[in-house]
Amino acid sequence: MSNISYSISQISQIIAAKTALIHSDNEIRFLISDSRSLIDPVHSLFFALLAQRDGHHFLASAYANGVRNFVISKEVDVSAFPESNFIWVDNTLAALQNLAAHHRNQFQLPVIGVTGSNGKTIVKEWLYQLLNSDYRICRSPKSFNSQIGVPLSVWQLQEDDSLAIFEAGISRPGEMDLLAAIIKPSIGILTNIGPAHAEGFYSLKEKLSEKLKLFKGVELLIYSPDYTGSLEYPSKQFTWSKIGTADLQIISQQTASNSTKLIALFQNQQLEVTIPYSDDASIENSIICWAALLAMGYQAEVVANRLSRLSPVSMRLVLLNGIDNCSIIDDSYSADPASLAIALDFLKQQNQHPKRTLILSDLLQTGKPDDQLYAEIALLISQKGVDRFIGIGEKIKIIASQLNIETQFFADTAAFLQALPILKFQHESILVKGARPFGLEKITKALTLKIHDTVLEINLNAISNNLNYYRNKLNSEVKIMVMVKAFSYGSGSFEIANLLQFQKVDYLAVAYADEGIALRKAGISLPIMVMSPEPSALEAMISYRLEPEIYSLEILESFVRFIPQDKIFDIHLKLDTGMHRLGFEEKDLSTLIDRLNSNRQLQVKSIFTHLVAAENPVHDSFTLSQLEHFSRQSAKIVDALPNKPLLHVLNTSGISRWPDAQFNMVRLGIGLYGFDSAMPSNTRNLQTVATLKTTISQVKELPKGETIGYGRRGVLENGGRIATVKIGYADGYDRRFGNGVGRMVVNGQIVPTIGAICMDMCMLDVSSVAVEVGDEVQVFGENLPISQLASQIETIPYEILTNVSQRVKRVYFYE
Ligand SMILES: *Cc1c(COP(=O)(O)O)cnc(C)c1O
Repeated sequence: MSNISYSISQISQIIAAKTALIHSDNEIRFLISDSRSLIDPVHSLFFALLAQRDGHHFLASAYANGVRNFVISKEVDVSAFPESNFIWVDNTLAALQNLAAHHRNQFQLPVIGVTGSNGKTIVKEWLYQLLNSDYRICRSPKSFNSQIGVPLSVWQLQEDDSLAIFEAGISRPGEMDLLAAIIKPSIGILTNIGPAHAEGFYSLKEKLSEKLKLFKGVELLIYSPDYTGSLEYPSKQFTWSKIGTADLQIISQQTASNSTKLIALFQNQQLEVTIPYSDDASIENSIICWAALLAMGYQAEVVANRLSRLSPVSMRLVLLNGIDNCSIIDDSYSADPASLAIALDFLKQQNQHPKRTLILSDLLQTGKPDDQLYAEIALLISQKGVDRFIGIGEKIKIIASQLNIETQFFADTAAFLQALPILKFQHESILVKGARPFGLEKITKALTLKIHDTVLEINLNAISNNLNYYRNKLNSEVKIMVMVKAFSYGSGSFEIANLLQFQKVDYLAVAYADEGIALRKAGISLPIMVMSPEPSALEAMISYRLEPEIYSLEILESFVRFIPQDKIFDIHLKLDTGMHRLGFEEKDLSTLIDRLNSNRQLQVKSIFTHLVAAENPVHDSFTLSQLEHFSRQSAKIVDALPNKPLLHVLNTSGISRWPDAQFNMVRLGIGLYGFDSAMPSNTRNLQTVATLKTTISQVKELPKGETIGYGRRGVLENGGRIATVKIGYADGYDRRFGNGVGRMVVNGQIVPTIGAICMDMCMLDVSSVAVEVGDEVQVFGENLPISQLASQIETIPYEILTNVSQRVKRVYFYE
């Protein structure tokens, strides 16, 4: 297989370097923008992008990981990077995009460009499933569709590819032209158009015209006038519609529990397909794929046959509790080097067990010769700190000689499962990753504890997004402490802390010492502040390096009395400037200073206070007075100390509303989980972190006159249908949600509760929806925001989140 290759000096020309320092003319195979996700550092070119975080800060870590080629836009002391190549440009992102556009221009092949508000990734993956028996396809990995993701996707084009499918996503006007120049599609697919505001546009028209810029030069455009009306477009069009005439006109849709039969008119014939899905999104995505294949000239029967076998697309890694004290990361639906690198990074983030294990199948259809492929994989595995490797398949065995760790190999999944009893997994984080035909989901199933029907799903990417959103508001050098008290506002313990540690936050804070001890036992090494330290936990705090908040002279005394004289002990001082909960008052300060001066083994790491109404403009003058008190009182203490402690005041709404009061650090809480009561408009930039789901256990038709549940409180005026679901007040679903106050989403429809909420169950009025036992029910999430639930029972999102009981299993997603 031959491939276009580029040397660093060629790249320097292509991207029109201002200057370059070429030490040796390396061949470049990989482009990277994240120093943590590396496949082959020697042949990687690092672009220091000024994205969410300035990539120039990560040059040293990329260098430490073996990278020697850099594109940068700032002054850098190159002597710190011996034997490295540097290319200087004005704009590193534009350079990355120009390089990808140049690469694209080397190819003459059909390229499908997919854009739209929803469904891009599924449509792209399904087209891949439908077409890969006829073409060698290059496609965007996962949902790489951004200004950075698109060039990285297009860079993967290789000489023997015969078709490419790339997705493009935009969030503001002006972005699509850039993506269009990189993708240059010959076939365009517009999936759909959602509300304008959801993606940062003023009007639907503006959004549509921006998206259509992707299709400027296409020969064929596939879309639905249901969303756009009919479009004036110079190219050939192929339309589909559920409501009007179109090339593919859907005339009937019959949904069963796990499949849907669609009938459509196409060229005056009636066509029929049955797809293995029944939800609205999957039905629409299948219709788009159906239209695309017909438009590309496929025979109707061939398309119907392939559509009937569409398999689910999972882009997400799932972190689950495993048997024998293990954590399982399920990524059993795909295997290619790029997604393996991402999954291994996630494995590496898991600190809770001493051992990290990878179960990996043969990699299929990578287009690389086996010896090169598995040498790359072996290198990757050794870089990512894997302790134990288990290979599944015939080909992967060749990796054995290249790994210096415990290895085992099995011909197939069945052989592995047979050997499972003697494999002795214990206290391990296990990544299960493989190509679909190997059926590794059976391995995941055998290794995980049964998941109950009610689960709280936590989206780790949303947490990273929200963290970075607030980070971007901070002045440089301002540190960030993340509040992970109360089980991270109900969302998890080490699972969240691992991510925060990986994201390099500066501090964590918990309410009680035992929460901090649990994090230390799970391998978390970040500094941890304890807000309500019990003197009885002093010894544990010392041995687990936990730092107490000292809020009164009494608590100070009790610590002074017991701490060893020869040890430095880090503490934090809380000042009461108006909350009147915990904290030193101004009259205590001179005694406090005396005590600190006579006990120099107490080292004050930080001084802080808490705002009582940062979110509310009505109380702004009070907030200002709190800030003023804090500045004055903290200065008094700082003057008397030998070191300079960190000063911090702001919680989430403070970060949003009081940018001038950042001091040295901020304390992010609820914003991480997707809420900002100071700025509801911020919520658009924040992503939903938690989704609570349950299932239907029974469905009943009731005649008029019957009542439902305890106290006969539920009444169906004219009779109807109810569904019993597996969630009650013991799971955290408040009794106040009873009798129609609360709502849940079933099969895409919002339905009210009926009757009183019971301890472990409650009932829904589903008279208007087709439901079956086992159907999934969303209690809160994207379609039913927690803020709405909170206002239904006159509380705040904090309470809804932290009330979800510990018996509800948490499941973590990462993509
Ligand atoms: C919980 C807490 C925070 C975080 O508050 P949010 O409103 O959730 O951002 C900050 N500081 C202190 C002292 C807290 O107890």
